[in-house]
Amino acid sequence: DKLDPCQRAWVEVKPAAIEANTRNIKQRLPKQCMLMAVVKADGYGHGAQTVAKSALEGGAQSLGVATLQEGIDLRQAGIKSPILLLGNLTNEEDLDACLSWNLMPTISDYREAVICHKIAEERVQTFAVHVKVDTGMTRLGCELSDAPSLLNFIDDLRFLDLEGVYSHLALADGDFDGEGGRVTFHQKQKFDNLLKSISLKNKSIVRHLANSAGTLRDCGLYYDMVRVGIALYGYSPIESLKNDFSLEPALAVKARITLIREVPAGTGVSYGHTFITKEQSRLAVVGIGYADGVGRALSGKISVLINGKLFPQVGAITMDQLVIDITGNLDISVGNVVTLLGFDQGRSLSPYYWSDISGSIPWEILCGFKYRLPRVIV
Ligand code: PLP
Repeated sequence: DKLDPCQRAWVEVKPAAIEANTRNIKQRLPKQCMLMAVVKADGYGHGAQTVAKSALEGGAQSLGVATLQEGIDLRQAGIKSPILLLGNLTNEEDLDACLSWNLMPTISDYREAVICHKIAEERVQTFAVHVKVDTGMTRLGCELSDAPSLLNFIDDLRFLDLEGVYSHLALADGDFDGEGGRVTFHQKQKFDNLLKSISLKNKSIVRHLANSAGTLRDCGLYYDMVRVGIALYGYSPIESLKNDFSLEPALAVKARITLIREVPAGTGVSYGHTFITKEQSRLAVVGIGYADGVGRALSGKISVLINGKLFPQVGAITMDQLVIDITGNLDISVGNVVTLLGFDQGRSLSPYYWSDISGSIPWEILCGFKYRLPRVIV
C-alpha cells in the first residue's frame, strides 16, 4: 500500500497556475515570439514533467533543461516538444545520447561543433544545435568576436542544423535606471551587432536573449523566443512589476505538527539553545527541516501559517524538524497542517520572504526542496 504523501511534509504543486502564468506571459509577447519554458532542476523543484506539460498546454513551444538526464527524463515521459540543453555537454558519449533522444545541445566552441558533426555524419542524421554567444554573462558561450566565424562554420557543416543563436542576460533583474539597465542594453547592443553582421544560409534561425526579467520588462528583448523560468512558477523577479502580471505562485510547502509541548519559562529550545522561552510556553514540533529545504539560516527568523494565522519559528532549524511557538493557542493540535510557503486562508508566504532573510534567491529556495518531500498535485 502507498503511504499517504501528506503525512509528514510535502510540496503542493498547482499545474493550473503554471498553465495560467504561461498563457498570461504568452499573451503579452509579440505574436511571432515563441516561449521556451525553463524546466531545469526538476522544474525549479515543482516536478519537471508536471511543469512541462502545463507550460506546453499554456502555449509554450519548447522546453529548456540543464542536463542530459533532465532531457531524457522528459522524453521518457512522452514529451515530444523541442528540448534545448542550456548546459554544456563536453564528451562524445553524451552528445551522442543527445542526438539519440532528439535533444538540442548548446554549442560554445569549435570543439563541440566538430564532435556534434562527427556523430551526426556517422549516423547520417541531422543534428539540430543552438550556438551560445557571451555578451556579458561571462559563463557559457563563445567570445563575441569568435561568434561570426563559429556560426558560419556550423552553417556550412552538412549534418548540423543551426537552429538557434542565443545569449543570456546577467542583470535584467537589476536596477534599470542604473547598472541593470546599462549592462542589459549593452548586452542587447552586442547581440544586435552580431545578428547584423552574420549572413547564414539558414535564414529561419531562432534568436533568443531574454529570461523572465528581460521578458517581463517589455523593452525590446524578445527576438524570436524568450526563455522563461521563474515567472512561469508565479514570481516576478522585478518587484515593481509584481502587480502588472497576475502571476500565481504554483507551489506551497506544508508539514504537520508531530508533537505539542508545554514548557516553563527559561527553557532552552533546540540545538545551541539559541531561543529561551520568556514565559510558560506551548511549543509545537513540525516535521520538516533543512534536509527538506528549509534552510538553517532561516532559524528563528521566519513565521509559518496555521489556519491563516502567523506563528514564529523558534530556535535552530534541525535536519528533520523545527519548533514553532503556539503559546496561548489551545485549539492547535497534533496533526494540524502548517504552511511554510504558499497560501493559507487568504494569507501567503513567498520564497522572497525567505530569501530576503537568508541572503538567498527564490530560484535557490525553490530548487532546494528535496525528493523527501512528495510532490502533491492540487
Ligand atoms: N536561460 C538560461 C540560459 C538560464 O540559465 C535560465 C535560468 O537560470 C533561464 C533562461 C531562465 O531564467 P529565469 O528563471 O530567471 O527566467
